[in-house]
Amino acid sequence: MSSTTLPPSGEQKAIRWYPPSYDIRVETIPIPKIQHPDDAIVKVTFAALCGSDLHIYRGHGGVNKDHTCGHEFIGEVAALGHSYGGDNTGRPSLYSSLKIGDKVVSPFTVNCGECHACRLGYTGRCPEGFLFGSPALEGGQAQYVRVPKAGGTLFNLSDPSTWSSNLSSEGKEKALATLSDSSLLMLADILPTGVFAALQAINHPKVAPIITGKPWPLCFSQNAPSSNQVGLTDEDRILTVAVIGLGPVGICATVSMLDLLSTRQIPYKFVAVDPLESRREKVTAVYKTIDAAGKGNGEFAACSTDEAKDKVKEWTGDVGCTAVLEVVGNTSALTLAYDLVRAFGVIVSVGVHGEPPLPLTGRQVYNKNVSFDFGRCPARAMFPPAFDLLVKRQDVFGGIGQPASLVDQVVDFSQAAEIYRAFDKGEVGKVIFDPWQAQA
Ligand SMILES: [Zn+2]
Ligand SMILES: [Zn+2]
Repeated sequence: MSSTTLPPSGEQKAIRWYPPSYDIRVETIPIPKIQHPDDAIVKVTFAALCGSDLHIYRGHGGVNKDHTCGHEFIGEVAALGHSYGGDNTGRPSLYSSLKIGDKVVSPFTVNCGECHACRLGYTGRCPEGFLFGSPALEGGQAQYVRVPKAGGTLFNLSDPSTWSSNLSSEGKEKALATLSDSSLLMLADILPTGVFAALQAINHPKVAPIITGKPWPLCFSQNAPSSNQVGLTDEDRILTVAVIGLGPVGICATVSMLDLLSTRQIPYKFVAVDPLESRREKVTAVYKTIDAAGKGNGEFAACSTDEAKDKVKEWTGDVGCTAVLEVVGNTSALTLAYDLVRAFGVIVSVGVHGEPPLPLTGRQVYNKNVSFDFGRCPARAMFPPAFDLLVKRQDVFGGIGQPASLVDQVVDFSQAAEIYRAFDKGEVGKVIFDPWQAQA
């Protein structure tokens, strides 16, 4: 046995949170060990800071136990439990094929990959699922992390035969050889979440008349039975969509939505909304960077909250947006989503709503016939389409620190407390920690 196959032992550095709030420390703690035969230990190459880390950081999560932070990480397999190798018929294929040294990215929650919820693709709600970087499960902002149910959870970037893609096998191999780890890390949460938000909107029944050109309820039938109304006009078939919140997930949702609109040749009017000017500049740079084919046929405006209401009114009269993607998760964002959405529209909300109750009455919801699609992205199930989009949009997802880049900077652990503070204040965009970089 070579030394590289020995399980790691000893101590490691980790970024840890302490209650009640705003207390981030870099500490030396034991390297995690295999606790269950289905576990893997992953040596973390990069770990990212995410907007949803801020809920606990601010003390809003109802959490009172210190723990290692972070739910977005990429790395390589350093140790495997006894379940791996041998005959694992009927279990996720990684229990047979995953090896020490494989490059892997993890979704932000554990998912077994073999229960009813996972079989349906609802991996974000696996009954055995835990969120990394919570009191229930130590996070990935460390040199090593323990991944429970790793055969169902991890995505094996060293073995592209383990997932489907619209790319050819050669296309996948080439992408994996050229994509940077900082780019692939976007698969851990923000890109699947953006794709999920966009897909939920575009596949929603309320959007079908615009996409099919057939009115409700004929939009669902194969044949188009004759009826007694005037046909849809070209104007009727323009999809007006708003994205509220232009942090990293909002950018991913915007890019995903533009990709769906352009590939399906759906004409659109697109309002990207954020109160912060720096974020509006970012989304504008992203839109400019995407080539004509990736933009399709539409108009695009980056707006402040007030500008958004005026722009939607200008573009749709008093009708409103057919789809609103609410990527923030607070009551003011949801109130704005309601104000912007049309009657018979859909609001997709992927932000973590921390403060009950929702700011809407049943009567308001009734009066607009509005549909809501709330909740956590089933990230593991979304990896294949997210990977394809990551490859296609390297102009946005490939760089670091450019005007159109999603990732602002890569830093070492010594800057953790300051970066958390700056991220909380909106002073920096997406930041990646390199746990192995010599501390400044
Ligand atoms: Zn995240
Ligand atoms: Zn499951």
